[in-house]
Amino acid sequence: MNTLKRINPRRPFTVTADGLRRITLGMTGVAGTVDFAAAGTVHRHQPKPRRTTAAAQHVMLVAAHADRGALDEHARQTLAAAALVADASTEIVLLVFGEFTGDAAALGADKLIELPAFDRRKFAPADELNALAACAAAYAPIHLFLPDNASGDGDLGRRYAAAANASVATHVVEIDASHVATYVHANTAFASRALPEVILLAPNAVDPKLPFVGAGERVAWHFGGESAAAQGKLRDLGIEEMDAAQLALEEADFIVSAGNGVSDVPAFERLAATLGAAIGASRVAVDDGKFTRDKQIGATGKTVEASVYIAFGISGAVQHLQGIKDCRHVIAVNLDASAPIAKRANLTVIADAQETIAALNDAAAAARSARGTGAALLNSKAVAEGALA
Ligand SMILES: Cc1cc2nc3c(=O)[nH]c(=O)nc-3n(C[C@H](O)[C@H](O)[C@H](O)COP(=O)(O)OP(=O)(O)OC[C@H]3O[C@@H](n4cnc5c(N)ncnc54)[C@H](O)[C@@H]3O)c2cc1C
Repeated sequence: MNTLKRINPRRPFTVTADGLRRITLGMTGVAGTVDFAAAGTVHRHQPKPRRTTAAAQHVMLVAAHADRGALDEHARQTLAAAALVADASTEIVLLVFGEFTGDAAALGADKLIELPAFDRRKFAPADELNALAACAAAYAPIHLFLPDNASGDGDLGRRYAAAANASVATHVVEIDASHVATYVHANTAFASRALPEVILLAPNAVDPKLPFVGAGERVAWHFGGESAAAQGKLRDLGIEEMDAAQLALEEADFIVSAGNGVSDVPAFERLAATLGAAIGASRVAVDDGKFTRDKQIGATGKTVEASVYIAFGISGAVQHLQGIKDCRHVIAVNLDASAPIAKRANLTVIADAQETIAALNDAAAAARSARGTGAALLNSKAVAEGALA
């Protein structure tokens, strides 16, 4: 154990006391015994090579809950960690709780087991533990990886480790083929050990962008475990919905943001409520009094990490871009195709912000009446992500 000053765990490429580069995974040629050097020359649009085609002798199991058919960033990082530390004879099996419609191969998985009967919104810890244990018994993994989150996976990993009497490392911020490390003693010390049986990975420890793909084979696997809830051992009280506008911007996964190009603020706010998105704003929009200061995103505002960030009428000044550097998909709506935001955006819609907002509000209203319910467009973020996939 080394005594270190606190290091921001989000800082990439931090060198630790023992000389290891932290968060080096995802870089060319650094991960354990696997040589990715060739992948460095792969052009952006060429298909990526398979990580390995060797016969599998070992398995690493990655388990995570899906959210509306997809794995979130943290779960993807965890899957990437396993794929990066695996050697050529190790197969990566991904076990997804809930429906999964993503591309398992692109995320680094060689096998995919989907358990659509489970849902992140339902509390079924005993059933999930049984399913995980059954899968672990079937595949005998050398390591089990889960994202160390507060939405089910972290808890499941701890329950599994306790039930199986397995060695476990939690809040892992550093990993390679030979060790894991985590902060201890209120972040004043850094503890490191060989890879344990269960690895619970902290967020942002690993870059999920992989220079290779997995085999991505879907495996039919039916889990027929008994339901503890049905036996009356626990009662699921459900999830309390909260207004997305109340969510701290730093925690929001879906943000719609307004700049100087937005003049119809009520229509914009209506759209945010309909989409279930948090509201952000540029400094000019805040200075104009259209939004409160706590909505400002950028160098002198909040730094956000949303999966989807839609910027209406925002030019993309460097100070604003600083605040959205960690957003996954950026969609810009701007009249000016040469605005700097277009360089950062994954998708730019060259259009008037007011007309686009009105059209989206109309589409939402049409979808609601077609469904005959007052429900919001629940899958709007998934649709936005799908448009960019
Ligand atoms: C020290 C310092 C710190 C700063 N910190 C921050 C910060 O934290 N956050 C921040 O955001 N800024 C910050 N700024 C300000 C920043 O430099 C920009 O001035 C600001 O981000 C611009 O906001 P904007 O893009 O909304 O407005 P503008 O620059 O006016 O851009 C408006 C954009 O909307 C488009 N547009 C106009 N009308 C329409 C329409 N009808 N439909 C669609 N598009 C339209 C235009 O083409 C343009 O691209 C800072 C500046 C300094 C000097």
